[in-house]
Amino acid sequence: MGARFMRITMLGTSAAAPDPDRGGSAILLTVRGRHYLFDCGANATRSMIKSNINPVDVNTVFLSHLHYDHIVDFPYFLLTTWICDRERAPVVVGPPGTQDFVDHLFENGAFAKDIEARRQYPRRQNTEILVPDVRECEPGTVFEDEFVKVTACYVEHIPQEITPCFGLRMDTIDGLSVSFSGDTAPCDRFIELSKNVDLMIHECTFPESAIKFRQKANVGTWSHTSPKELGKIAQKANAKSLVATHFASYDTCNPVVKDIMSVHMPKDIIGPALLNEVAEDIRANFKGELRLAHDNMRIDL
Ligand SMILES: [Zn+2]
Repeated sequence: MGARFMRITMLGTSAAAPDPDRGGSAILLTVRGRHYLFDCGANATRSMIKSNINPVDVNTVFLSHLHYDHIVDFPYFLLTTWICDRERAPVVVGPPGTQDFVDHLFENGAFAKDIEARRQYPRRQNTEILVPDVRECEPGTVFEDEFVKVTACYVEHIPQEITPCFGLRMDTIDGLSVSFSGDTAPCDRFIELSKNVDLMIHECTFPESAIKFRQKANVGTWSHTSPKELGKIAQKANAKSLVATHFASYDTCNPVVKDIMSVHMPKDIIGPALLNEVAEDIRANFKGELRLAHDNMRIDL
């Protein structure tokens, strides 16, 4: 049995653009030594290793929704832990469509030839671990074991008829609670789900100064939460502490990422100083403890 506290590791903190300094959405929650992964965006597996967590020991994965920046590392996670002698197939909890996503990856999917080739070796006979225990879920309790209960609500991101998107909340046996918004516009259901949490992890995809620019440029989904809105949400939910994450690379110093992001906001405002504006805008409405996420940031509750 591990220690009686909860550790949160922000494995990936970017949105959908490729960014050498931020991976795709991925958060590891560790309760009494047992790991639970919320989202599996680009670089999640390598980021676990950087945080000294063996991905072989991660057996429960929750997918907030099926946008690629939240799931694209999943095949890498499972294949790479297969060759590192994973002992059992992981549980994967996600929206309807998760089974279809998983079914197209492994023995009957994109990596069929790789798997056929590697299983020639005596040590790689254990292909049963490549068949995850997928549990497609609806709002309500989506997972329970002796340490945690996870509940989910619908959030506002992708039109529901295409694929539902979930916000998640974990309550632990030690009385600790963490909620995670996934991607969403301001959502009363998520505020309700998050009431009195110890820690709210919420997307904050674009700074206020990018929002008008994006409306004119007519790019991407509108269904995100601005820093000022985020402050109100955390305050209404009475969250003790807030982590803002899922930053659309607006703090980058990398010239290629700046070029990519110039579709979404004026190029000359992109850079680390923009995080100051974001923090101030959240603070305008939220009086609790605030952190801006970076990859491999660790929080102990
Ligand atoms: Zn996203």
